[in-house]
Amino acid sequence: MFERYTEKARRVIFFARYEASQVGSPYIETEHLLLGLLREDKALARRLLHSGGSVESIRKKIHEYPTVGEKIPTSVDLPLSNECKRVLAYAAEEAERLGHKYIGSEHLLLGLLREKASLAAQLLNEEGVVLERARENIGEWQRPRLGLGWLQSKFGISGKGGKDPNVLEIHGQSLDLGYVQAQVRVLSKFAWRKREWKPVDVLVESETDRIFFDVSLRDDPRFKHVAGGWPQDWCSICNWELNADGGAEHSSGYTNGRQWLCVECYEKFFTSSD
Ligand SMILES: [Zn+2]
Repeated sequence: MFERYTEKARRVIFFARYEASQVGSPYIETEHLLLGLLREDKALARRLLHSGGSVESIRKKIHEYPTVGEKIPTSVDLPLSNECKRVLAYAAEEAERLGHKYIGSEHLLLGLLREKASLAAQLLNEEGVVLERARENIGEWQRPRLGLGWLQSKFGISGKGGKDPNVLEIHGQSLDLGYVQAQVRVLSKFAWRKREWKPVDVLVESETDRIFFDVSLRDDPRFKHVAGGWPQDWCSICNWELNADGGAEHSSGYTNGRQWLCVECYEKFFTSSD
């Protein structure tokens, strides 16, 4: 039954059984599965709950329920409740949906959320973990690149030492991780080449002095052509300025022929070192 389960997912089941036995439950219930999950996959729990406090709060709420009976020796092979059986079936479906051959703790979590009336789903919902969002998040994290986890590991952001795990620093500037992720995703569709940054010829509307970039309209009498009339661009991720006379750090970057990236952003996000 558990052949397709990852090592971690198996341990979740193992701990769930242990949790059930400790409170004398004759079945493994969804809340035991959830406890197993919180215990075994702390990283997943943290990412979904965004703070360790909430994991504690779920644990506490579950332990507030009166114990069912005497502790059961762990040697007894407690069966899964019907709810739990459905959770496992859902987990298998969720894995399939994401195109995963294995069943992991993340699929078990989605399975728990799908068994909506279960105690586990209710507790997760109370902590703000809802099925649709969790599905999206999990799908995203598992893209090898561009996931939040990937960004965090790339920048060594652990959320430890009081640092905000949703902020990364480029050129000493703090940027929101979600924003960066969205930009990188869009910009990853383009091919990038390193270039010296050079001022760009533009057209200027005579009446308003407003700038128009498409110089193919240079014969339009309402425009005047200004060679090098555009003196700078900005990195599409971090807004670092690129210009011709601000020194080495500003004078070259990567371009797709239209937009620019500073060297630091390009190297961080678009080189394939992993
Ligand atoms: Zn940049």
